[in-house]
Amino acid sequence: DQPALQRLDAHRWLLPRQGKMRTDGLIFSDDELIGAVRADGTLQQVQAMAALPGIVGPAMAMPDAHQGYGFPIGGVAAFDPHAGVVSPGGVGYDINCGVRLLRSKLVAADLNHQQLTRLADALAAQIPAGVGQGGAKRLDDRQLDRVLTQGAAWAVNNGHGQATDLEFCESNGQIPLADPDQVSTHARNRGRDQLGTLGAGNHFVELGVVELVADADAAQAFGLFPGQLVLWIHSGSRGLGHQVCDDYLKRLRQDKDAVHSPDSQLIAASPHSPVGQSYLAAMAASANFAFANRQMLTHLARQAIGQTLQISPANLGLALVYDVAHNIAKLETHTVHNRQRQLWVHRKGATRALGPNHPELPPRYAAIGQPVLTPGDMGRASYVLKGSHLAETLTFASSAHGAGRRLSRAKAKHNAKGRDISAELAQTNVIVRAKARATLAEEMPDAYKNVNNIAAIMQNSGVAPIVAKTRPLVCIKG
Ligand code: 5GP
Ligand code: MN
Ligand code: MN
Repeated sequence: DQPALQRLDAHRWLLPRQGKMRTDGLIFSDDELIGAVRADGTLQQVQAMAALPGIVGPAMAMPDAHQGYGFPIGGVAAFDPHAGVVSPGGVGYDINCGVRLLRSKLVAADLNHQQLTRLADALAAQIPAGVGQGGAKRLDDRQLDRVLTQGAAWAVNNGHGQATDLEFCESNGQIPLADPDQVSTHARNRGRDQLGTLGAGNHFVELGVVELVADADAAQAFGLFPGQLVLWIHSGSRGLGHQVCDDYLKRLRQDKDAVHSPDSQLIAASPHSPVGQSYLAAMAASANFAFANRQMLTHLARQAIGQTLQISPANLGLALVYDVAHNIAKLETHTVHNRQRQLWVHRKGATRALGPNHPELPPRYAAIGQPVLTPGDMGRASYVLKGSHLAETLTFASSAHGAGRRLSRAKAKHNAKGRDISAELAQTNVIVRAKARATLAEEMPDAYKNVNNIAAIMQNSGVAPIVAKTRPLVCIKG
């Protein structure tokens, strides 16, 4: 039986407080997408989120929401630091999975098909990808400790990028209070050789073209122009973060301080309990690993593109627009009922969306708001939105993290039987490369919701207005 929803307006539904819920649920969606949200376990998961102790404001699902482990993917919830909890299932297995967007100085139309094909081959050859795939480097314990505490800065300081990259990362690519000692040896060993690797499936490196600018001032501030070649990178904390999530779920199941829920996937702890503190320190360390990973991937992509096109870094001008986390819990200050409060905001498959003049924005974006990176799929499009003051009051400054899956991996594979997804995409002028053939089926555009709907919902609800839209040209998948 699906819980009853009350429609609030064109893009919001209320899941009224009932039973064990301590607060309402709030669902962002539209007439086309709401059916899928009702059909999987998303609404029950929102109810379970709303039942967690110390939750402040509604338990939310963004329009890309679908059923996940614990929270739905697309779930957002904020917790009081004293009465509330932190939950690994509210952060996700791929801690600080996230997206970065780089602009270039190139006009995409100046590249012919042969050049784009060579770019696809070079990126596929030079970026390690696939399940459990290692990279060029094997970190010793001292190096790994530094990565886990310094994040993206470690990569930049070791020659993998430029200092300005850090300015355009969420939290400058470094989450404070990370403690490498809270990361198990097993997790460390899984991550040791995975820095600068893409991972599998949903992760990607993608060249795209800006096909639409909807907000000229914001696009100018973000350095985007119509026809521009851009680069998207999506990856996370690889085996290291996954193992940290696994370790702490296991540890919580045996810890006297664990906070239990009817949904065992939502096991949690007070942020002040020893196990809670330890998870937060390990989560921060994993997040730093992910920031460093995306920075290393950026460096590899810059090299591959520069070499292929025989163009200098200055003329290529691949500069970071922004890097956002979409699987993380952060202690942030929000205004609730006219009072400033510190809250543990969980964004699980959701992106931070700060409004104009927020102190954490780089000065270049102060008048505009934060770039909200919203990838779609490898066939249709991706969007750059901007954060707003309304987002700060309505969603704890959060927005959708992508299109979100529509089909399970198994269903997508079934639907793709007998089809050549790579050829289908080639017909629409997208060149794809994937490590595994099954990846293309699982990741085909049909497997995702239509990102045009997602962007329209975020814009029309006032949470994150559209700045620009990009179309994929070359996509490298794990
Ligand atoms: P997640 O981290 O939840 O797997 O994925 C983030 C989002 O990235 C997905 O919801 C999907 O909309 C988007 N996405 C997945 N694969 C691709 C791709 O190959 N290219 C682009 N542009 N977006 C993708
Ligand atoms: Mn992700
Ligand atoms: Mn991921």
